[in-house]
Amino acid sequence: MEDIQEGRCQCGDISYSINKSKIISTHHCHCKDCQRTTGSGKATIIFIAKKYVDLSGEPKYFESKGSSGSHVRRGFCSNCGSGILSYTKELPHILFVKAGTLDDSSWVKIDSNFFTKSANDWNKPDDSIKCFEGNPGIMSNLKTLVKSF
Ligand SMILES: [Zn+2]
Ligand SMILES: [Zn+2]
Repeated sequence: MEDIQEGRCQCGDISYSINKSKIISTHHCHCKDCQRTTGSGKATIIFIAKKYVDLSGEPKYFESKGSSGSHVRRGFCSNCGSGILSYTKELPHILFVKAGTLDDSSWVKIDSNFFTKSANDWNKPDDSIKCFEGNPGIMSNLKTLVKSF
C-alpha cells in the first residue's frame, strides 16, 4: 500500500512504518532543544497518532521540559544515536516522527514553523509557510483531537 511509508535509524535496530494518509500535520521546529538534539538548525517533525505508527525496536528516551511546561521525550537509537521520534508525556498518543528518518521523505509537506524566534540566520525559516514565534499552542488542540480517536 503506497500510504505505508517506512523509516529507520542509521543502524537499523529501530525501524517503523507510518500510514501517511493519517498524518495530522508536519512542522519545522527551530527551538533550541531541537537544535541541540539534532545538531542542526531545526527538527522536522511529523505529528501522527501512535496507532498509525508501527514501531519495531526500543528507542532510548531523554526527557526535557518544553517552554509550555510539557515534558518532551525524544527517542534515540541506543546503538547508533539516530533521533527517531518524540512525544510529550502529557499527550503520549501523538508521536512526532523525525521526517529525515523516512526512507523516502520526498512527499513530506510542511505546514508551519515553530519557534522562529530562535531560528538562526544560517537556517532561516521558510516564511512562505505559517510561522509561530514560539510555541504554537497546538497541544491543546491536539488534546481535543485525541479525544475524538
Ligand atoms: Zn540505530
Ligand atoms: Zn523543538
